[in-house]
Amino acid sequence: MLTEEIQELTNRYVMNTYDRLPLSIVRGQGCQVYDAEGRAYLDCVGGIAVNALGYGHPDLIASIKRQIRQLIHTSNLFYTEPQAKLARELAEQSFADKVFFANSGAEANEAAIKLARKYSHQHFGPDRSEILTMVNSFHGRTLATLTATGQTKVQLGFEPLVPGFKYVPFNDLQALEANISEHTAAIMLEPILGEGGVVVADADYLKAVRNLCTARNILLIFDEIQTGMGRTGTLFAYQQFGIQPDIMTLGKGLGGGMPIGACLATDEVAKVFTYGTHGSTFGGNPLACTAALQVIRILLEGEELKRSQERGAYLQKMLFTLKENFPIIKEVRGRGLLQGLELSVDGKPIVMDCLARRVIINCTMGNVLRFTPPLIITQTEIDSLITILSNVLTKQALTTTHP
Ligand SMILES: *Cc1c(COP(=O)(O)O)cnc(C)c1O
Repeated sequence: MLTEEIQELTNRYVMNTYDRLPLSIVRGQGCQVYDAEGRAYLDCVGGIAVNALGYGHPDLIASIKRQIRQLIHTSNLFYTEPQAKLARELAEQSFADKVFFANSGAEANEAAIKLARKYSHQHFGPDRSEILTMVNSFHGRTLATLTATGQTKVQLGFEPLVPGFKYVPFNDLQALEANISEHTAAIMLEPILGEGGVVVADADYLKAVRNLCTARNILLIFDEIQTGMGRTGTLFAYQQFGIQPDIMTLGKGLGGGMPIGACLATDEVAKVFTYGTHGSTFGGNPLACTAALQVIRILLEGEELKRSQERGAYLQKMLFTLKENFPIIKEVRGRGLLQGLELSVDGKPIVMDCLARRVIINCTMGNVLRFTPPLIITQTEIDSLITILSNVLTKQALTTTHP
């Protein structure tokens, strides 16, 4: 099938919840994807921070294939080795002691919200269930997680929302303090607002939030669904801020393309999840866990994470160079291979123009170009991206200065 036909079928039979680019991807290799017409594109979105190892990584494919032959699924009525090993690996690599497995980011956040409420109820009574989240955060599309999300555009029309959430401006300690009360159970935030425009938390702010939480017995939840799995240069973003959360959620890059989410916590918190309090049919599925385990091995033992740090630094350096040449770039923000360019103009035409030149980028919040390429992106590929961006921005600058 060619793109047009696939597009027609999709529009006719799939619920129209996505604003898709006019491109049908058929296969990929490394950081390149190929459309239904066989054209190649440089993919700087990587499934929105999911394809951490790009496309067709041989070791990832080999372990998934092996596991498919052995066992695709059983259930959580039984034990499986991949789930046990992945949980151990995640615990050993993080602050956490225990893991609950889900199938997506939103579900991992649902687990975190339930865990925080249960912990708080159990320790401080039924009136302590409020969760503070950030303005412009993004935590998912289920009812609880869209309520946690501090953006009215994802909530509109789905009322009544889940009670017990309150929003405070990001990086604003005073606003946070002012909203804490005897009802506050947890504070939930992304160390870097991803969908919210690639806004990095100040290290001092996060430290103060941690201290506040500790002093007032409030749980600190980090949503690292986008920032985790090496995206920002360390396996988890919190590791760069010198503090630890009590609960952390993962998704997106965790399975290298296989759907999996995880909610991690300290023993002290995790123990309130007792038999029957939470569950998921597919959660911790052996195939997804095998993939995730292999992703971590490749990142750490294969030193792919270490190499990605140089790539991230290089991308950021080149984006700063672009900023010097183009006044429509207001700011360069990000860590590692999660980078954003805030523009003074609408980003969509730039995304479309890049696509026409066979480079896939993303735009969030209307005017922030977001780059979440596979962590294996090469310096040459980054150079190609910058050249194309530079050409596109030159054209844009010409049309905006001579309207
Ligand atoms: C993508 C994302 C989610 C939601 O993940 P899904 O797998 O789409 O449910 C939640 N939080 C953050 C920070 C994300 O980037």
